[in-house]
Amino acid sequence: MTVTLERPVTTPTVRRCPAWCDGQHNADRDGNFFHRGPIAVAAVPDSAAGPTGDSDPAVPALTAHLVLPAGPEFDGEPAQITVDNGDLFGPYAELNLAQADAFLRDLKVFTARVQQMHDRLVELNGGRP
Ligand SMILES: [Zn+2]
Repeated sequence: MTVTLERPVTTPTVRRCPAWCDGQHNADRDGNFFHRGPIAVAAVPDSAAGPTGDSDPAVPALTAHLVLPAGPEFDGEPAQITVDNGDLFGPYAELNLAQADAFLRDLKVFTARVQQMHDRLVELNGGRP
């Protein structure tokens, strides 16, 4: 995919996206340009939201996507995996490969523990899923 950016000068900047980029560059501008892979989302059903006192209750969510900074400054920023809670303006983390490995280990333990809880819930519900 090729992306053409509008610039205040007459010559547009054209960048070629890597094959894994989702091609969504709507808000990207020179000096703030990132290739992003498809997003991964883990969230519980909205119907499971508990009361929090907030006017806009939201269920817990975790999102991640691969990001490659590609600004014209060519400052050599490495690719990383951005992890956040689905809030563009909330806290986020930028994982390098070793940090991504540690995060994946935690996710596997998390998934195994939630599976155990699920299985116990089935028992508590008399065998009904
Ligand atoms: Zn791209």
